[in-house]
Amino acid sequence: PRLANQIAAGEVVERPSSVIKELLENSLDAGATRLEVDVEDGGVKLMRVRDNGSGIDKEDLAMALSRHATSKITDLDDLEAVATLGFRGEALASISSVARLALTSATDESGAGWQVTAAGRDMETEMAPAPHPQGATVEVRDLFFNTPARRKFLRTEKTEFNHLEDVVKRLALSRYDVTFSLRHNGRAIHNWRGAASQPERERRVAQVCGPAFMDNAVHLDIERSGLRLWGWVALPTFSRSQADLQHFYVNGRSIRDKLVSHAVRQAYQDVLYHGRHPAFVLYLEVDPATVDVNVHPTKHEVRFRDGRTVHNFIFSSLHHALAEVSP
Ligand code: ADP
Ligand code: MG
Repeated sequence: PRLANQIAAGEVVERPSSVIKELLENSLDAGATRLEVDVEDGGVKLMRVRDNGSGIDKEDLAMALSRHATSKITDLDDLEAVATLGFRGEALASISSVARLALTSATDESGAGWQVTAAGRDMETEMAPAPHPQGATVEVRDLFFNTPARRKFLRTEKTEFNHLEDVVKRLALSRYDVTFSLRHNGRAIHNWRGAASQPERERRVAQVCGPAFMDNAVHLDIERSGLRLWGWVALPTFSRSQADLQHFYVNGRSIRDKLVSHAVRQAYQDVLYHGRHPAFVLYLEVDPATVDVNVHPTKHEVRFRDGRTVHNFIFSSLHHALAEVSP
């Protein structure tokens, strides 16, 4: 099983940031409202995610490390509506095949939790009682310790941490209501308190993207025939290098998409005659039945049923918002 899991891991686990993404999505799926991320050495030495979600029953704990352990798909409609972020049921199994993974959890506040670890050629799981408040903690140590070829592809500590931080930022901008904290090598890097009122949303965007972004951004919120686009676009007065400041969400899920970037860039250049990459945090809301976000589970791709309409809507909404504030 370890070999099969390692092959699957090639799909899911590319670097520390891919592990963090899977762990945080699991925590959000479990209804957590507080996520604590603690990493060492860019995540390679240690990644610990602690949440206050539903937790996992003792019976389901050992199962959680086996492939196709998902508890999340109950029927095909779920797949269509993509009710949850994760759906493959193999992330934990894959991770535990290329790192030392411990999952500790409790489903109530009695303090009596359980810990499961997987080890050995056959990935036998071991269970032991372990005190834990309600929720789950996943600890991943020594990533790729047993796959040296994969380990060689890792970059510097700083680069790996930057990727990891980017994942946390992307998720923090998709869930304003959730509290996120991030520590690296024992140092507090971010602490974003969850809240969902409009001023509090603006505060989070300023925290995640920097106050200069917020000070130079136009807010928009436009709805037309079942499509809604809202968020912030920076004006040219925002002068930082901004290739990393492009956040686009479709129905709450972070995506990168050619059609979307093209529409944004076109509107930006049309109004501002500006060659630079635009910086933005934008949310598109569409009928889930008209978009397929599962084209590839880890690659942030989408496929719109009617791409031309979506392109026109994004272009004209941004055009309108930018033209209003431009001289
Ligand atoms: P998937 O998320 O696709 O179902 P995973 O391998 O990521 O598959 O997780 C396996 C299962 O372990 C999940 O379906 C869920 O039941 C459980 N699980 C994982 N992480 C958590 C968590 N933080 N809180 C509660 N349950 C969890
Ligand atoms: Mg998952």
